Amino acid sequence: MNPLPIHSRADCQALDRADALAGLKSQFDLPPGVIYLDGNSLGVLPSATPARVAQVLTQEWGQDLIRSWNSAGWIDMPARVGNKIARLVGARNGELVVADSTSVNLYKVLSAALQIAKQDRPGARWVVSERSNFPTDLYIAQSLCRQHGLELKLVDEPEQLPQSLQDCAVLMLTHVNYRTGRMHDMAALTRSAHAAGALVVWDLAHSAGAVPVDLHAAKADFAVGCGYKYLNGGPGAPAFVWAHPRHAERFWQPLSGWMGHDAPFAFTPDYRPAPGVRRYLCGTPAVIGMAALECGVDTVLAAEPLGGMAALRAKSLALTETFIHLVETRCGTLAATDLGVRLASPRAGALRGSQVSLVLHAPLQHAGYAVVQALIARGVIGDFRAGDSERLSEVPHILRFGFTPLYLSFAEVWDAVEHLHQVLGQQEWQNPKFHQTASVT
Ligand SMILES: *Cc1c(COP(=O)(O)O)cnc(C)c1O
Repeated sequence: MNPLPIHSRADCQALDRADALAGLKSQFDLPPGVIYLDGNSLGVLPSATPARVAQVLTQEWGQDLIRSWNSAGWIDMPARVGNKIARLVGARNGELVVADSTSVNLYKVLSAALQIAKQDRPGARWVVSERSNFPTDLYIAQSLCRQHGLELKLVDEPEQLPQSLQDCAVLMLTHVNYRTGRMHDMAALTRSAHAAGALVVWDLAHSAGAVPVDLHAAKADFAVGCGYKYLNGGPGAPAFVWAHPRHAERFWQPLSGWMGHDAPFAFTPDYRPAPGVRRYLCGTPAVIGMAALECGVDTVLAAEPLGGMAALRAKSLALTETFIHLVETRCGTLAATDLGVRLASPRAGALRGSQVSLVLHAPLQHAGYAVVQALIARGVIGDFRAGDSERLSEVPHILRFGFTPLYLSFAEVWDAVEHLHQVLGQQEWQNPKFHQTASVT
């Protein structure tokens, strides 16, 4: 799909008419008057979810009560939903389970990876990651480094990664950066890490359901990911965890709860880990949340007969390219003002996930939050990620827009840019009501 050149809303509508994935939008009940560009942060509600959750509540819990662990298959949900997610990330049946949150799963796999590294590579001194990685990932790594007597080495530029792997125990990366949308070459970096003797943990929070991922082709070691972003699992949805079969049984993960026991209902006093990835479970599965997550994952799998992740990726790239083109031609610099935006995401599609980040021109950097609030008031929902107030030239404030090809149209991209043009041109962001900050940004 080559979207350019686009000169008018009618050009966008023509792309929509030619879009073989357009019908997937009927899987969602989107609120009228909203252009939702935040599916990278909280995915939308699938139409099937309320009825499915109601069934879990009123029938499975309300009527069938504890019998539902067997009769409704509650106990199998971590593996069943995990097998569905596995299809989206190049994992095989039985290798991936749904459990806990991304942060907790990262703790489990990073801990296991560090134990393996300690045995295979006793001299290793570092966990290597990026300063721009999502903070919870860095916080978890800091805790584990303290426990294991290692140091966390953070690089500033992705290009420095291959040179930073000497004496590295584990390279821990997020595949698609949450701020800039920059996407790593998973296979190449995994190869570099293995050549240097290190293991690799991949966080797929902004990848699963957003871009094609092939964990086996990349020979990755461990992966975790998020259920409530592109997988549309709902607020606080359970996350997922994958361990390559060559590692899955080498060590206990540290949260050795009963659901990861080989025989949870034998109630023996001694822990004996389950075979394979099931040992990465800890406590009782969150059944209601998992039922909602399964509905969300199904909305992505619905693209399989239409070309699956490859087709979704092609549309996602066409959407983000259209957005970048329209933003640059219409909002790059607005006549007779200092106003305008520049691209903060990679221009090359191959380096970009399913989001586009923008930065306001320097004199107006501080207005980013208010610009996003003014857009939200117009029904265009994106978000704002604060930069580093002491190093704004290196880590600027970012206006972030996620593009979910399951439900977004090219006409909506046109309309979103029109709203941005008006917010900037009419200086709407100066209204004090757009400067009040809430507790969640
Ligand atoms: C969203 C996200 C998380 C979220 O972790 P939770 O434990 O669900 O709060 C973690 N890591 C990355 C890279 C993310 O993008």
